[in-house]
Amino acid sequence: RGIQAKKEASTQMLTFEQIGGQERAKRELVEALDFLVKKEEIARLGIRPLKGILLTGPPGTGKTLLAKAAAQYTDSVFLAASGSEFVEMYVGVGASRIRDLFTEARKKAAKAGKSAAVIFIDEIDVIGGKRDGGQQREYDQTLNQLLTEMDGIHTSEAPRILIMAATNRKEMLDPALLRPGRFDRHIGVELPDVKGRLHILQIHAKNKPLESMELLDRTAAETFGFSGAQLESVMNEAAIYAMRDNLEVIGRSHLTSAIDKVMMGEKTDRETTD
Ligand code: ATP
Repeated sequence: RGIQAKKEASTQMLTFEQIGGQERAKRELVEALDFLVKKEEIARLGIRPLKGILLTGPPGTGKTLLAKAAAQYTDSVFLAASGSEFVEMYVGVGASRIRDLFTEARKKAAKAGKSAAVIFIDEIDVIGGKRDGGQQREYDQTLNQLLTEMDGIHTSEAPRILIMAATNRKEMLDPALLRPGRFDRHIGVELPDVKGRLHILQIHAKNKPLESMELLDRTAAETFGFSGAQLESVMNEAAIYAMRDNLEVIGRSHLTSAIDKVMMGEKTDRETTD
């Protein structure tokens, strides 16, 4: 059911303009994608095709959004899965799920009349962690299947498949995944700076009435270390506080309380997981 829900969510369109901050990551990604579409030049110069892009960085910084926007930018169908979906008790199930994902990408692209597909695998470290000889044999099979599928991608093939994967633990990945021809492009997606935070807040304030737009500048200044996901929460919580106060617009106190709430929430999460 998890896979189904993700697939439905993945049908929504998303462009790079809807992603706040992350200017460097967006630029690097667009550069890589532009390179991908110049098929003839690549073939003429004998350049190895781009098959895998790895997005690295803390949770909630917009890696999934970037993968969706990459699909939109290259006019590809988009499929998403998470590493944890491939973890199964039974040997072979994870590997066959990987196979199914690639088959489905090809089918979905054909059905939509598109010549390309982006497959996004979040939490790639779950299946792509370093192999430690003998242990985790089921994960090995899953990872091997992914490597086999990636090695089987050809530029001339229709649809052309690009694998994007995300992790916040790059150092944990099996070196086999990072070899040339596999995930050999790495793009860091870091926590936003104050300008990035303002941009993200502006995006999430679009459908919300604010007392004044200057409130967003203040909020950006007061949310050092927040991720995009946390900033989205701040805007949402602030709107809830305004509703509780029976007010039609979001004011400074609502934003301040929302920042505290998101910060506290993080603290309790961390305390309970420690
Ligand atoms: P994870 O590693 O936890 O899967 P992620 O990096 O893939 O996280 P997303 O799923 O892309 O993060 O982001 C989660 C939500 O946070 C988005 O749906 C969006 O609402 C908000 N968000 C995160 N980053 C940004 C951003 N740069 N601009 C706008 N919204 C953002």
